[in-house]
Amino acid sequence: MLDCSAAAATRMAANYLDWPNLDAIWISHFHLDHCGGLSPFLAGTKHTDSMKERKKPLRIFGPSGLEHLLAKFDDVNNYRLLEQPFPIEVIEIEAQEKFEILPGVEVVAMSTPHTDESHAIHIRDIDGKTMVYSADTGFSEAVGTFASQVDLFILECTFVRDKPVQKHLELAEAMIMIRQAQPRRAMLTHFHPEWDDVNFAEEVAKFDPLCEVIEAADGSHLDV
Ligand SMILES: [Zn+2]
Ligand SMILES: [Zn+2]
Repeated sequence: MLDCSAAAATRMAANYLDWPNLDAIWISHFHLDHCGGLSPFLAGTKHTDSMKERKKPLRIFGPSGLEHLLAKFDDVNNYRLLEQPFPIEVIEIEAQEKFEILPGVEVVAMSTPHTDESHAIHIRDIDGKTMVYSADTGFSEAVGTFASQVDLFILECTFVRDKPVQKHLELAEAMIMIRQAQPRRAMLTHFHPEWDDVNFAEEVAKFDPLCEVIEAADGSHLDV
């Protein structure tokens, strides 16, 4: 699972995902729309009958400070969220340090211009399929290069145009980064409400993209 918003647990259930067997969670940074669902999810796994038989570990990966964050969530009411029927491992990663997020699945993270701890990740599957998930980022040619030739480039596109902050992207910037990366397919996500009244396909077509650019939606399902 790539980031864990408040809605993540209910979304997994609503989409019939096999959440009791989730192997790994990646937390890109500590804004609540990316990590605020960790506590409710872990409270759920701790008390759900279907988890009592689970033996395999759940690994939670993220930037430096992740352990501290979880400890703070715990402290609110001595929840002991990391005491589960199965082992939990919290693993803090460094930028550019290659690690295995699942057996045979290699990941490298890189820092993004969003918060001090924010990272994008590059995932290489056991059969060579690749994906980059930018999470939140300001404009960054380095992130575009990081996503070079991947099968799927999932990129934030918070604003349509005239963005009010530097630490997120607007469509024109996202399209530059996609053009730079030349992925097989791209998917834009993390839309602020101003997108609600915008025709996504029309706006994207203005940039004459070189690959399919998909509009992420709740419950979207695609194979890499
Ligand atoms: Zn953020
Ligand atoms: Zn965000």
